[in-house]
Amino acid sequence: MFINERTKPHELIYYEALSARTSLMKQESAKFGNVKKGYEGEMLYDQIFDSIGHGNVLIYRDLFLSIDGSVTQYDTLIISDSGIISNEIKNFSGSITVRDGSWYRGNFSIPNDAFSQLNRAVGKLMELRNASRSDFKVSWKLIFPNDNFTFHSDDQSNWSKITLRSGLRNYFRQFNQSGIAAGNKAQYISRLISSSIVENPYFKPEVDKTRLKFGLYCGWCGSFNLSKKRFHLNCNKCGSTECNETHLLRAMSDYKFLFYNQPMTRNSLLKFIDYEIPQYTVSRFVNKYCFQHKRGNTSHYTFKYYDFNDAINKSDVYKRYRDSRP
Ligand SMILES: [Zn+2]
Repeated sequence: MFINERTKPHELIYYEALSARTSLMKQESAKFGNVKKGYEGEMLYDQIFDSIGHGNVLIYRDLFLSIDGSVTQYDTLIISDSGIISNEIKNFSGSITVRDGSWYRGNFSIPNDAFSQLNRAVGKLMELRNASRSDFKVSWKLIFPNDNFTFHSDDQSNWSKITLRSGLRNYFRQFNQSGIAAGNKAQYISRLISSSIVENPYFKPEVDKTRLKFGLYCGWCGSFNLSKKRFHLNCNKCGSTECNETHLLRAMSDYKFLFYNQPMTRNSLLKFIDYEIPQYTVSRFVNKYCFQHKRGNTSHYTFKYYDFNDAINKSDVYKRYRDSRP
């Protein structure tokens, strides 16, 4: 069973917000594309795992674990009474060749090969195990969920380290067999993992504010050309309507990821939306959707939700003023 949600990676939401408000530079576009593709691969992995069933195991997704002073990211950890299996998901397309231990895409060598990355990451899990003086197994598998990917290797032993899309359903079936269980031992390992979870410490975007277009934009077509009504805004390009609350939730989410860990005040948010929604409305919604932190006469706010989608799934925004698609 899935223990936690697989949320969109911070970087992906950051690039979504950034690309809505500025044109991306070449490097940023490439990064955005990679992060998006990676996330799509992880969702595909989850979907296939779901279709096979995973009631006998505990599954953690997209985790950062702090172990012995360093923080490592894990795409998926599968826990049963026999131990932990780390699955690293690479949504590669095209082909990869492994020759004399080095990884190549065409004739280009890939500097940080996935086997070494995984070995390091799994080494940390072994440290965690050893520090707790327990004796479960820790192993890993590299997963390539993309149909359009081929793997070549001069070393036959590499095949046991990977699973391609064609073998993925069979790979998952082993976790759904009667001999596999998540009993006391798995619960113990799960507590060990849970106690090591930390926030992503590597996400520290530095965005140049002068590049960003401030204001509100249409959630359907991205246009900033909106007409203000009392409770909503109409898009002059595609004709959709979104209420003030929807726009503010999107703006607060953008703010969170573009200016990560920087305090948001009512005034800085008003400036960010280019004063397109009146101050009293902004005040009301900031109080509703953010935690307030008071220091002396000033307050700053932190968004209660992970991101915009999380907010609209959990809040009751749409009961009064419905948004309408073009
Ligand atoms: Zn529009």
